[in-house]
Amino acid sequence: MKRNYQKELEAQLKVLKEEGEVPTLLLHSCCAPCSSYCIEYLSQFFYVTVFYYNPNIYPDEEYAQRVIEQQEFIRKFPTKYPVTFIEGDYEKNRFYDVAKGLEEEPERGKRCTKCFELRLGETAKKAAELGMDYFTTTLTISPMKDAALLNTIGEEEAQRYGSRWLVSDFKKNNGYLRSCQLSKEYGIYRQDYCGCVFSKRERQVQKAAKEAKEDWN
Ligand code: SF4
Repeated sequence: MKRNYQKELEAQLKVLKEEGEVPTLLLHSCCAPCSSYCIEYLSQFFYVTVFYYNPNIYPDEEYAQRVIEQQEFIRKFPTKYPVTFIEGDYEKNRFYDVAKGLEEEPERGKRCTKCFELRLGETAKKAAELGMDYFTTTLTISPMKDAALLNTIGEEEAQRYGSRWLVSDFKKNNGYLRSCQLSKEYGIYRQDYCGCVFSKRERQVQKAAKEAKEDWN
């Protein structure tokens, strides 16, 4: 049966609220725009620590800019419970190792599954090390990402490291739309490609094809 991750999350949040608990949550973030709505939503229920672990990002300048934008958003955005930030290692070789042989895969293909496993695995491990009550990722907010796949990987990595996965499908309840509004409101830089060199090339090809079509018409 198809799971409704948003409904599952809402049920879990209801229990926390009834019990008067405010747990800790390690929130893996891919970028500030995607994190905006997730932080707005989750910081009403958790002490959130944003974990920026994205060794997939290309080039270095893009990586650094995403870190700055993330920190800036956390600094400016008012929340019920405090939100903190930690940066993981920018271990690019780990990404290129898992992407090996999958360079020509399209976005949403097999390379992305490996990329999710790498990032969620590291987040699950960090959550266990830090003794966080839960971990999750902003990635489910993207209409380009498969929430069922991300939740399955999150649950597997949680088992592997002995941490607890918080299910999500943040694009539901207009989450993606809200992230666009917040990005505009806070002047956050929003990149036009997912993150890795392969997705950047794919986007450039798509753009060139679109421009060529427009010129033709
Ligand atoms: S397209 Fe995005 S999710 Fe897929 S491998 Fe590249 S950075 Fe990772």
